[in-house]
Amino acid sequence: MIKAKGYAALSATTPLVPYTFERRDPKEHDVVIDIKFCGICHSDIHMTKDEWKFGSMYPMVPGHEIAGVVSAVGSKVTKFKVGDQVGVGCMVDSCRECTNCKQELENYCIPGSTLTYSAPEKDGSGITQGGYSNVIVTNEDFVLRIPDGLPLDKAAPLLCAGITTYSPLKHWKAGPGTKVGVLGLGGLGHMATKIAVALGAEVTVISHSDKKREDAFKFGAHKFINTKNADEVTANALYFDLIINTVSSADLEMMSLLSLLKLDGSMVNVGAPEKPLSINVFPLLLMRRSLSGSAIGSIKETQEMLNFCAQHKISPEIEVIAPDQVNVAFERVLKSDVRYRFVIDMARL
Ligand code: NAP
Ligand code: ZN
Ligand code: ZN
Repeated sequence: MIKAKGYAALSATTPLVPYTFERRDPKEHDVVIDIKFCGICHSDIHMTKDEWKFGSMYPMVPGHEIAGVVSAVGSKVTKFKVGDQVGVGCMVDSCRECTNCKQELENYCIPGSTLTYSAPEKDGSGITQGGYSNVIVTNEDFVLRIPDGLPLDKAAPLLCAGITTYSPLKHWKAGPGTKVGVLGLGGLGHMATKIAVALGAEVTVISHSDKKREDAFKFGAHKFINTKNADEVTANALYFDLIINTVSSADLEMMSLLSLLKLDGSMVNVGAPEKPLSINVFPLLLMRRSLSGSAIGSIKETQEMLNFCAQHKISPEIEVIAPDQVNVAFERVLKSDVRYRFVIDMARL
């Protein structure tokens, strides 16, 4: 076994604490990764606090925005070698047999993909543990290559915030001639903005205060709406083809937000609030609008997104922190006081 150290939640109601544990020795197709950086996703907060009531398992080492360097490989690994710069995102395995896995859509694996942390390992060996740690052992099929030109600290958030926004933008065909709204300018929202701009869409950030107005334009947005100003909202009725909802809270005026969509427009939810959204169906009926959702992205699409970001020189705005600052960082994320992703430097463990 490989000795590992990191930070873990021991229960839903206690702060993260230093934690030592073991990783499996690499199997034939496993890659051992020295973790250099791990992003803090709002999902880590939902999960450690068991807000989704998915049956979070403790001790829980969170973290699914992992970037590092390969330090060893199993005897049959063909895709990676020692020294490669790699990443691991939200899943580390899937059934590989269902119709969705067969179409390389492991993120929609029907029995359920194996999440990077707080999920039972397929071989029954225990519970997966995530990236707030110094080492991880992952099957090569779920490891991503980080292209040259993307520094590891800035690459880390792409493994969740990047792919979770890239995937729906591609699926709903954001590009030249489309008007895209990005609801919520946090970790996911700022990546959605940068990616949608690079795809050639006209992009509007829809935020719940004026605090991020300037930043939105810095990230390439063409317009900004503060939802607290009713006039700004009504002036943009029937405007958007697509709204990507990245908000972590259900405290949203869905009626007025849906009215921003034009005929046949879609709002895609990637935000995953603890509480249900409250929807009045009339804005959907009246303009044949759609309300849908999207979960991360496949391994193939994640690699495509990493290459796209390297090619277009897109990367997140990050604040690098030491591991012992993780609880303060959680508090700041909850107050929307992050510009725009915390990334933990594992060298300081
Ligand atoms: P984040 O950095 O905290 O950003 C969330 C943003 O939502 C905030 O910056 C804020 O933007 C807005 N917001 C927060 N509270 C609000 C409120 N009460 N009213 C209105 N707006 C509010 O979080 P994140 O890491 O980007 O994650 C966002 C959500 O996506 C989380 O629920 C997370 O679990 C989920 N997620 C889903 C997937 C998936 O596969 N679908 C993957 C990753 C994450 P403004 O200040 O601009 O309004
Ligand atoms: Zn995430
Ligand atoms: Zn499957």
